[in-house]
Amino acid sequence: MKSDFRFSKKYLSLLYSRVSKILPFLVMATLALPLTAYTPEEVTSVNNIKSKNLDGKFVNNTETNVFSVKKLMSMVSNYISEKSPESVPQSDIPIQRISPSQILDANNNTMWRLGHSTILLKLRNKLWLSDPVFSDRASPSQFVGPKRFHENPISIDQLPNIAGVFFSHDHYDHLDKAAVLELNKKVEHFYTPLKLGDLLIQWGIPENKITQLDWWETVSIGEVTLTCTPAQHFSGRGLFDSDKRLWASWVIETPALKLFFSGDSGYFKGFKEIGDRFGPFDVTFMETGAYNKSWDDIHMMPNQSIQAHLDLNGKWIYPIHNGTFDLSLHAWFDPFEKVTNLSKQFNVKLLTPMIGTPINLLKPNSDNLWWKTFKDQ
Ligand SMILES: [Zn+2]
Ligand SMILES: [Zn+2]
Repeated sequence: MKSDFRFSKKYLSLLYSRVSKILPFLVMATLALPLTAYTPEEVTSVNNIKSKNLDGKFVNNTETNVFSVKKLMSMVSNYISEKSPESVPQSDIPIQRISPSQILDANNNTMWRLGHSTILLKLRNKLWLSDPVFSDRASPSQFVGPKRFHENPISIDQLPNIAGVFFSHDHYDHLDKAAVLELNKKVEHFYTPLKLGDLLIQWGIPENKITQLDWWETVSIGEVTLTCTPAQHFSGRGLFDSDKRLWASWVIETPALKLFFSGDSGYFKGFKEIGDRFGPFDVTFMETGAYNKSWDDIHMMPNQSIQAHLDLNGKWIYPIHNGTFDLSLHAWFDPFEKVTNLSKQFNVKLLTPMIGTPINLLKPNSDNLWWKTFKDQ
């Protein structure tokens, strides 16, 4: 009996470790299940001025794969068999801390990556923030789900006042309710894709502090112009709100700079159109992480991130959506390694500074290979 008990305890702990490893993936896959596909007759060009909304659900302008149960099962089996043992670093990755005075004293056109897709920009003497995620886990729960690989380089409390926060979509690794509520007191205004702002209002953010934009809509705030541009992705935070809020990328322009922020996206022809309309870009902040061949229609593979940067007519690429959360099967450092090799192959100027490093967007420094020494320690 005793050995049976030991066996079942061992079995349970093995089962728990397997399930806890695939849980974030299952959450993502479940959210993706109801993804609506365009039938070929309904496919419209991305030249279409607005996003499409069918029966309350937004849809991509290009066809995306429908997730079948069979496909889901094969993805789960890949997840268990292909998961890299190095998908999470052994210890917290190194970062550079940021002080409030460093931000206040910095020149205009400086940026700091705070982690994942959270970017702080200093433009025209004001601060702008993308997809602010400061919580420990990118998950509906702070007990389970992907846990961050590093501390925040600066806390919300220490951040100076922010002129505007813009969001790409409502997934937990981009829209952090606790962060939004804490930021509210020091943020002048929130900019969201359509319907995402309704969720902020539900959370208690005053309606007059929110501007919701459709694809290709532009808003100017002094000398800073934000344009909500298309992305090929999906949305949802639970089982009953899939695709109800729009997903987007953003173009950020000032008289001195043009920047592109990808949000999350599969590779699609929209990048070329955004490049034709707004390019060339000084820096593209390009999703390069959480990729896998099984879902490359909603997250780009590294070579597609480089191709999207070229389509956009970007000068420097700054890969984001990596180094903070484990959301796929690849090693945590794989995005940095792959994009470094690809940037050499395609002669693309690459920025891979340590998180928290200030970057002069008018004269960026070249790449930095910080992860190589850390991972080999
Ligand atoms: Zn997403
Ligand atoms: Zn994401």
